[in-house]
Amino acid sequence: MFCNLCSFKCNVDRENTLGVCKCPNSVKLARAGVHFWEEPCISGSNGSGTVFFSGCNLQCVFCQNYKISQEFFGKEISVNRLAEVFLELQHKNVHNINLVSPTPYVPHIISALDIAKQNGLYIPIVYNTNSYETVETIKSLNRICRCLSA
Ligand code: SF4
Repeated sequence: MFCNLCSFKCNVDRENTLGVCKCPNSVKLARAGVHFWEEPCISGSNGSGTVFFSGCNLQCVFCQNYKISQEFFGKEISVNRLAEVFLELQHKNVHNINLVSPTPYVPHIISALDIAKQNGLYIPIVYNTNSYETVETIKSLNRICRCLSA
């Protein structure tokens, strides 16, 4: 895909070229697990189902997740596997799916949420962003958000 997901608007084909964020064309995941140390309203009593994506389009030098956000710790996985990850977290009784640094992977996330929803995902989605995405990228999430709250 030609990527213009964030305000860098690299317009590069990520299949063949890296943009500013250097994120791959497929989903790269650093960690998924139950997280109790988000804001209390998100972690609640059972924890948040946090999904840390590798890489970040903002690249702050002081990032507390530097190994993940800039050294790309993680593993490339398929959209189908990402959908399974969402469902596995839901089975752990978390309050939500918490997408950390999701911006470079929004199209993959939407596809994975579609699959997961068809297979029973119903808990809320937290879009935990650096806010450096385009309005169009945010709007692309509208459909899936409406579906999940329906
Ligand atoms: S997500 Fe990455 S490749 Fe896409 S526009 Fe932003 S910096 Fe460029």
